[in-house]
Amino acid sequence: MKPPPFVYCRPGDLAEALAVLAEHGDEARPLAGGQSLVPMLNHRLARPGVLVDIGAIEELQRMERRPSDWLIGATVTQRRVERHRVEGCELLRLAMPYIGHRQIRARGTIGGSIAHADPAAELPAVALTVDATMVAAGRDGERAIDASSFFAGPYMNSLEDGEVLSHVIFPVLPSTTRCSFKEFARRKGDFAVAGIAAAVDITDRAVSTARLTAFAIGSNPVRLTGAEEALAGRSLDAAALTDASEAAAAEVEPWDDIHGSPQYRRQLVAALLQRALQEVAP
Ligand SMILES: Cc1cc2nc3c(=O)[nH]c(=O)nc-3n(C[C@H](O)[C@H](O)[C@H](O)COP(=O)(O)OP(=O)(O)OC[C@H]3O[C@@H](n4cnc5c(N)ncnc54)[C@H](O)[C@@H]3O)c2cc1C
Repeated sequence: MKPPPFVYCRPGDLAEALAVLAEHGDEARPLAGGQSLVPMLNHRLARPGVLVDIGAIEELQRMERRPSDWLIGATVTQRRVERHRVEGCELLRLAMPYIGHRQIRARGTIGGSIAHADPAAELPAVALTVDATMVAAGRDGERAIDASSFFAGPYMNSLEDGEVLSHVIFPVLPSTTRCSFKEFARRKGDFAVAGIAAAVDITDRAVSTARLTAFAIGSNPVRLTGAEEALAGRSLDAAALTDASEAAAAEVEPWDDIHGSPQYRRQLVAALLQRALQEVAP
């Protein structure tokens, strides 16, 4: 398959990219690693007239450890983060190897994956679990968007026309937080049929805060607030794990597709959550 015709431009700075996006409106689309957009073009699922390659914009390639968070530029590749290990942001490190294959992660970007908002993608689930902040750049400046309001449905985000995701801020979690990332896929490198991201803060052997997210089960990743509440103040013993996984299975509303029925996905959510909690238990 070949893509429909398009005009390609590769601006050298963000201001220029924003000007081109503003000039062409919804005819134009940013191109990052191309690992999702290029297949979409080839399958004619997207037909932008103008592709704005943001790969040469230096300010989108920053990766900085600040006192309480990591600032990761939108075009930082997934592989770069994987190799860096991002101390203090363990969930990000744990999730990275599940994204496709190494060759894909060498091109695919942090911002591209989050902006693309694939319901089965790992990075949106990580962002939601750790309460990451997405920073959108537009011609009028920057604005911050919480992960809880960024994902607006399958393959939809809450960026305005003409805005670019410029960077993502991942908070550094306390050293008492233990993380686990579990997913089930039919083959290594495939998109998940269901997955769990967990960051559990444990003080004096009891859960002080549990952040649990299920993904690949519906339009967007979802926080498992029922399961989080079921764990509050408890030690991670067998009864707590059972209560949390039952709460998770009851609160999700999985979709039905060729990869799994809602009932099957509910069971996967419960089983993956059990495994994640076993892993973080002291
Ligand atoms: C075989 C294969 C297997 C894969 N498996 C997985 C997997 O298991 N898990 C997973 O999560 N992903 C998987 N992917 C997708 C991959 O991770 C992509 O890297 C990711 O989805 C998109 O990142 P990208 O940088 O390639 O973005 P692109 O493909 O360039 O762009 C994707 C979309 O985001 C928009 N966009 C990109 N950057 C920005 C920005 N800064 N601001 C605003 N909009 C932007 C584009 O306009 C486009 O609409 C797979 C891809 C392939 C080809």
